[in-house]
Amino acid sequence: INFINYKEVMKMYNVNSDIASEFINDNEILDTIAYAQKNKNNIKLIDDILKKAEKMEGISHRESAVLLECDDKDVLSRIYDLAHRIKERIYGKRIVMFAPLYLSNYCVNGCTYCPYHHKNNNIKRKKLTQEEIKREVIALQDMGHKRLALEAGEDDTMNPIEYILESIQTIYSVHHKNGSIRRVNVNIAATTVQNYKKLKDVGIGTYILFQETYNKKAYEQLHPTGPKHNYAYHTEAMDRAMTAGIDDVGIGVLFGLYEYRYDFIGLMMHAEHLDSKFGVGPHTISIPRIRPADDIDVDEFSNAINDDLFKKIVALVRISAPYTGIIISTRESKKSREEVLKIGVSQISGGSKTSVGGYEKEESIEENSAQFEVDDNRTLDEIVNWLLKLGYVPSFCTACYREGRTGDRFMRLAKTGQIVNVCQPNSIMTLNEYLIDYAKNDTKQIALKVINSELENIPKEKVRAIAKDYINQMQDGKRDFRF
Ligand code: SF4
Ligand code: SF4
Repeated sequence: INFINYKEVMKMYNVNSDIASEFINDNEILDTIAYAQKNKNNIKLIDDILKKAEKMEGISHRESAVLLECDDKDVLSRIYDLAHRIKERIYGKRIVMFAPLYLSNYCVNGCTYCPYHHKNNNIKRKKLTQEEIKREVIALQDMGHKRLALEAGEDDTMNPIEYILESIQTIYSVHHKNGSIRRVNVNIAATTVQNYKKLKDVGIGTYILFQETYNKKAYEQLHPTGPKHNYAYHTEAMDRAMTAGIDDVGIGVLFGLYEYRYDFIGLMMHAEHLDSKFGVGPHTISIPRIRPADDIDVDEFSNAINDDLFKKIVALVRISAPYTGIIISTRESKKSREEVLKIGVSQISGGSKTSVGGYEKEESIEENSAQFEVDDNRTLDEIVNWLLKLGYVPSFCTACYREGRTGDRFMRLAKTGQIVNVCQPNSIMTLNEYLIDYAKNDTKQIALKVINSELENIPKEKVRAIAKDYINQMQDGKRDFRF
């Protein structure tokens, strides 16, 4: 790249643009990769970047790319140490729990990595009725879940927006025993501003949409048919969602589809774009890796990333966007989850079924409607038990959005690290609800100890006293206390 071209390229990159090819600018990504490779193990530069990162206010995509490229062992351990400290400071010990709920696997798109693609005749197509949704929600409530991520294929005839809206209302309306779903996050296809407004009006939590890959050419090849083929429409979806008033959006890529450097930088640029243009960065970043599934051979995807690289990417997302929740799913094994929890992940799913209707009734092999294979097959209680033993506080908290702490209000608290002051008591109180209503005996014993000691760790005396009082009131059957 010569200097004149370089200037041309820089003109095209515009973090605040409305146009996908300008805020996820291909030349800027390629130039960033070249810059990072040129500075591979440039210890002086890396030292400066890490000093800046120590402020826990994030670093730029260029700076993250330099760290991603580095393979110096000492630097790597500094990266992991810093990511761990950021996690502790901003998120404390809490790990937020959620479960996916698949409504329908009808889909008109042709995504080559997903078994729901419309040409796959091996899987059974299913769409839940409102009665079936109620039964799924009861099964999820009986496990202890309070927070769901709604999933549905794209099909305007089978799964129109009215169906999604009705389903969300049904989910919120179910109250079985002491159960309730208090936050429904929604992962549906890119849509119009008008439809995003409708989603906001029914009270969704986060709108989640994975980019899959930021590379336009690869994106078009991976999505050969259907509305999802349109790269710009998909990439600009979060801008439309935010324009419609949805404050909390969740981004992500499916690592393994394309070259990891490119997608990591694209992901960071997308976060910078939202932060710069709307004053609110992404609420969450999901980091899934490609998994085997019906009709999908993972070996066909030569960009698959190994565990070490996966861990490094998680740590760098934590350092680059300290205020953003990081989500991993049950695609990851227990071992892999344990590693990344230490260095950045703040939300995990538990007891997940990735098939349509899988909570109420286990599917037979012939019936297979799952989107991908789950590696971590443990029950929610087993996961809660495991997290407690690792020293974490599993949290079923959904307080922020219900208290109006969304968008920039949330970000202000997150960026200054003050969010921990509400996360901590809320995690203890929601864990206590879980303990009373759902935990198995062994989990109950450990949770009780953790709750008692964590209560004493609440720094503000007044908050500590209120939290204790709320916990006492739970013995009388009261629920849903929050800060
Ligand atoms: Fe449909 Fe989504 Fe699967 Fe693509 S990834 S085939 S859009 S369900
Ligand atoms: Fe999440 Fe807010 Fe609850 Fe903290 S207080 S766990 S940020 S909902």
